[in-house]
Amino acid sequence: MNINFNVCLLTFFLLFLTACQNKDPSKGLYQQQLFTFGTLIDISIVSDNSEQAKRAIDIISSEFDHLHTQWHPWKNGALGQLNKKFYDASSSSDTFTSPPSVIKLIQDSQLLSEQSNGLFNPAIGQLVKLWQFDQIENENYQFKIPDPEKIQQLLEKNPQMQDILINNEKITTNNAAIVLDFGAFAKGVAIEKMMSILKDQHIDNALINAGGDLKVLGSKNGKAWKIGIKNPAKTQNPSEKAIIAAIELNDNETLFTSGNYERFFEFQGKHYHHIIDPRTGYPAVGTQSVTVLTEDAALADAASTALFVAGPKLWAEIAKKMNVQYVMLISDDNKIYLTPAMAERIELLTDIKPVIVK
Ligand code: ADP
Ligand code: MG
Repeated sequence: MNINFNVCLLTFFLLFLTACQNKDPSKGLYQQQLFTFGTLIDISIVSDNSEQAKRAIDIISSEFDHLHTQWHPWKNGALGQLNKKFYDASSSSDTFTSPPSVIKLIQDSQLLSEQSNGLFNPAIGQLVKLWQFDQIENENYQFKIPDPEKIQQLLEKNPQMQDILINNEKITTNNAAIVLDFGAFAKGVAIEKMMSILKDQHIDNALINAGGDLKVLGSKNGKAWKIGIKNPAKTQNPSEKAIIAAIELNDNETLFTSGNYERFFEFQGKHYHHIIDPRTGYPAVGTQSVTVLTEDAALADAASTALFVAGPKLWAEIAKKMNVQYVMLISDDNKIYLTPAMAERIELLTDIKPVIVK
């Protein structure tokens, strides 16, 4: 009886699939999931040439792996080695070298950090390390609030991206507390790079989605790519809807979300998460999630983190300074804030009335 039922179900499923394929005369959708960059990455390529799609995904996959090691703050790649030199530096006149890809990460993020009034600050690697959210997947992980004195000491040293000087590929700093963590930036830079690899491989229609941080090329068989945005309230209340909004993305557009539900720990009734407010040294308060739409994934990544830290009062001002037009912020008290441009495009799947902020 059970087996019969399963066979029936399978037959139905196969018929359904065949029907879908027959009904859709358009190009095939080639999809693959990679585990790289510390996360699951979904790649969708619209193509009739599965060989071409597979080849492109192989190149992307090894490039993601390579960049993950190179740009990881603690692995033995280029950035890990540079961070070790920062730690070991005996005087502020020490100079270091690093490959061009790391130098470019530093330079590009210096500008964005400045525009964000230092709320996006990759120079707080030591502070981020104290919180240990990168260890959360480890079997022996145990949450601990860092020693407040250590937090205070780091805040007093006030490490900023502007404390790093680059001259003819030589790096120096006069701030002994500098350690670089590009956790809020590297994924955006990498996705931008993967998209240019796809274009080089003559792929014009694709989506790369790293757990809700994504960029699209072209369309999905002539239709805009339709994307769902996670409802942050679901972390606190599992009966909430999983998706809070939907939006259609056009060629070259990118959508990044920073949320307090990505890496977090509930401890003594409080929610501790991985986005740190460089002004306090503690997880940023006031925001549940920020979604940014732009055409540049690196900017979107940095801005979503900066606006998360900025919170309900300051986000609109910082968004203007960072030149991002499309923003949605969901605050701790479940208010939805939108820029006018975002209000025009987003489809909210909730009864909450948004606050539109110019
Ligand atoms: P996700 O990587 O989950 O999408 P973000 O892009 O917001 O989220 O990046 C969060 C990561 O960035 C943290 O895990 C940490 O490595 C680093 N980080 C935390 N706070 C800041 C900050 N204020 N500025 C820059 N980087 C940060
Ligand atoms: Mg980010």
